[in-house]
Amino acid sequence: MKQQANYRFLNWAQNQNCVAQNFFQPETEDELIELVKQSSKVRLLGTGHSWNEICLSEDTLINLDFYNKVLAIDKEKLQVKIQPGIKLWQLNEDLDKEGLALANLGSISKQSVAGAISTGTHGTGINYQILGSQMEEFNLIKADGEKMVLHRERNKELFNTCLVSLGCLGVISEITLNVVPAFNLRDYTIAIPFSEAVERLHEFVNQTDHFKMWWFPHTDKMVLYRYTRINEKANDSRFRQWFMDEFVSVNIYRFLLKVGNANRKWRRFINSLLVLNFNKPLDRIEKSYKVFNVPEPPLHREVEWAFDITHAQNLLRDYKQLINSSNHLINFIQEIRFTKADDFALSACYGRNTIWLGAYNADNFEWKELVDDFETLAKRYNGRPHWGKEFTIDKAYLQTVYPKYEAFNALRKQFDPTGKFSNNFIERIF
Ligand SMILES: Cc1cc2nc3c(=O)[nH]c(=O)nc-3n(C[C@H](O)[C@H](O)[C@H](O)COP(=O)(O)OP(=O)(O)OC[C@H]3O[C@@H](n4cnc5c(N)ncnc54)[C@H](O)[C@@H]3O)c2cc1C
Repeated sequence: MKQQANYRFLNWAQNQNCVAQNFFQPETEDELIELVKQSSKVRLLGTGHSWNEICLSEDTLINLDFYNKVLAIDKEKLQVKIQPGIKLWQLNEDLDKEGLALANLGSISKQSVAGAISTGTHGTGINYQILGSQMEEFNLIKADGEKMVLHRERNKELFNTCLVSLGCLGVISEITLNVVPAFNLRDYTIAIPFSEAVERLHEFVNQTDHFKMWWFPHTDKMVLYRYTRINEKANDSRFRQWFMDEFVSVNIYRFLLKVGNANRKWRRFINSLLVLNFNKPLDRIEKSYKVFNVPEPPLHREVEWAFDITHAQNLLRDYKQLINSSNHLINFIQEIRFTKADDFALSACYGRNTIWLGAYNADNFEWKELVDDFETLAKRYNGRPHWGKEFTIDKAYLQTVYPKYEAFNALRKQFDPTGKFSNNFIERIF
């Protein structure tokens, strides 16, 4: 097992850091259990793709980068058993070789599977729940080192309570995931007027397997992404992928960000230039996991909240009005996604079909002011924050929007009576 003293952690967005006295990278479940038993304070660290303080610890950090294998693939049952440190991208590739795939994914696949599940990471598609819903069974190692095996049907109540756990119920060890035969997606992407996108929103959401939208702030255009599951062959050209997804989306965009930083007022014009890209429809077919994932984004800040879909149209109109009537000058897309309701205690989609609205900006300047304005609006709509992104609210508000908040907290105290898995973030929430 690899270990290090005084390990310096910096998250992906470079807005969170800590120095952990001890850092361990176990390779087996037995090593993991021993570490949990012998630690008095410990946090798990995936790939550090969360924007908030969720991973921070000055005591012990455990990372599962070397506990990351595919253990078994059952093609008949359509199930795969994995170790929790495997990255989504590795899993996508391993599954693809076997003619299999995850049914749904978020916008990137750099995260560890356990890390993504623990914060309720989601993709888009109103008939698809958060990523963790693809679990059939998982092992949870509690603070005292006891290993529990939780199955979605046999231990339904506990399974549902523990699925989104923020790393404070114990360590997720081996996971069995339900998978599907590999499939392609037809990606039809085009920009239309913001007002039309909002008016026809429910039509788009209900008639598309995986629907999402990007609003370029300060413009009147909304980019619609419509992904349809399809049996036809992939036809996306390598040249287009290189030119658009690497050269334009990565290099040219980063250059334009620099221009917009030289004078923030230019961002209005730059955003209207960027949206021109989408005036002509993109119509391509490609492997599912390649379509779900977007080109590597530049460093940026994110808040994202989940709302009852019945409020979707008013929420979007109010958000546009908020930005237009403010001084915020935003240089990044605002993202709108959709997921199906679920029964997982701390899932932001608990009990309601969900619209997600994300305010993103590749700028720290006046970011706090943007978050404050966003949260004022979000609270008015009874929103729930994404656990892996930035938010400033505390337990008093969370209790009002999570019907299972008390049940989860009671279980946390039972599983971890000494607060072994707590840090400042967990204490703020509970
Ligand atoms: C560029 C970018 C794009 C993103 N896109 C999306 C998206 O499309 N959709 C979305 O919903 N989110 C998205 N996110 C957020 C991201 O998916 C979550 O923050 C996710 O939790 C990060 O996974 P990670 O492996 O980095 O976990 P970390 O951030 O390292 O950890 C997250 C939590 O998981 C816990 N944890 C890790 N491993 C275990 C374990 N074995 N047992 C118990 N707890 C554990 C940690 O303690 C911590 O509480 C994105 C983030 C970035 C930076």
